[in-house]
Amino acid sequence: MNDIKLLVVDDETDFAEFVAEVAMGMGFDVSLTDNSTKFTTLYTPDTNIIILDLFMPGVDGIELLRFLYNNASKASLIFMSGKDQYVLHSAQKLALEQGISVLGILQKPFRAEELEYVLAKYDRQSAPQAVRKHETPSLDEIRQAIAQNEVYLEYQPQINIADQKVIGVEALLRWTHPTKGEIPPSFFIPIAEENGMISDISEFVTKTAIQQLGIWNSNGHDFRMSINFSPKILDDLDMPEKLAQHATNCGANISKIMVEVTETSLMSDVTQYMDILARLRMKGFRLAIDDFGTGFSSLQQLVRAPFSELKIDQVFVRKMITDKDCRTIVEISILLAHKMGMKVIAEGIQDENIWKLLKNLGCDEGQGFWISKALPAKEVIQWIDNWSSK
Ligand code: C2E
Ligand code: MG
Ligand code: MG
Repeated sequence: MNDIKLLVVDDETDFAEFVAEVAMGMGFDVSLTDNSTKFTTLYTPDTNIIILDLFMPGVDGIELLRFLYNNASKASLIFMSGKDQYVLHSAQKLALEQGISVLGILQKPFRAEELEYVLAKYDRQSAPQAVRKHETPSLDEIRQAIAQNEVYLEYQPQINIADQKVIGVEALLRWTHPTKGEIPPSFFIPIAEENGMISDISEFVTKTAIQQLGIWNSNGHDFRMSINFSPKILDDLDMPEKLAQHATNCGANISKIMVEVTETSLMSDVTQYMDILARLRMKGFRLAIDDFGTGFSSLQQLVRAPFSELKIDQVFVRKMITDKDCRTIVEISILLAHKMGMKVIAEGIQDENIWKLLKNLGCDEGQGFWISKALPAKEVIQWIDNWSSK
């Protein structure tokens, strides 16, 4: 286990040493600091686990959370604190909302066995291999990736929850770097967005995905295609027209194209995108609000925006069996969407129990590793045939 890097941050030196000893006893590669400002120097992108005291002089745990979020950290967190459970739970929720995984929370003082129990939950299989191998890609590398066809699309199947029939696929961007291997989209899309390169990526994605849908639709495969749109391209007033034209040229059915925009991207001001969103709908495209539950869109914004579908973020779906609050968020999202005349899609269906629960709750559609991971285009039809004959 000494390939797993663990960082302990606690200003109580004795306690920090106790925690480090337990972790070392379990074979982790442990670094330790009782000085919270040292955290950023000890932290590296391949840190796997961070055990953090929420309250320290100088820097608090919440600030460190923000640091991890801004650095797209894949580390799992364990929170500890001598304050009440309520604070620990709030911090856990906050981390969850930012997509940071939390292994557990421990109220001080705790026994070695309690810490061992939480640490034993760390799943090496799900440790972020891809992330370990590389750091954030540079602008030049992204530029080269687009120019040299290192980026491509894969398609994750989506099913109707009630009868498990395949209803569509979501196009997901992939990048195989010649030396660094797979680089996840969450690593390079934000960089491309900040540096004016997202329109090149978007153009590649929409062209490729719609062309592929055109091929499938013309061959009698009547399913739909979801495409992720960066908010940065939602200011091009001609976009709905260009997209419709492209679909027609490719023989793709416009009503089978779903444009996905994330809730967070719409948070700032939905009014500035309303124009484009409304015109997309008027042209017959479907429109989904993605990663619902991770942003803070107001109900008023939701009612005003012309979404046809609401996608519940995978963070809540994945944990809905074991975490009551996640389940509540899923239930409320389903109710809300239905009341507003929208369909609901759950992402992150990782096992059969989640699917069953979603079915009982009346969720319409879903995708997730239990159904299938994203597949290369040439494998999709074969996969659907196998799935349908199960
Ligand atoms: P998203 O649109 O919410 O896409 C779903 C993500 O959840 C995908 O991650 C998918 O592989 C993952 N996923 C699906 N089912 C499961 C599951 O059961 N368990 C787990 N753990 N994960 C599951 P991926 O491909 O890494 O994409 C991450 C995000 O990057 C996407 O989230 C989307 O926001 C963005 N993205 C991907 N492709 C594009 C693109 O072409 N353009 C833009 N603008 N953004 C993209
Ligand atoms: Mg999406
Ligand atoms: Mg999503």
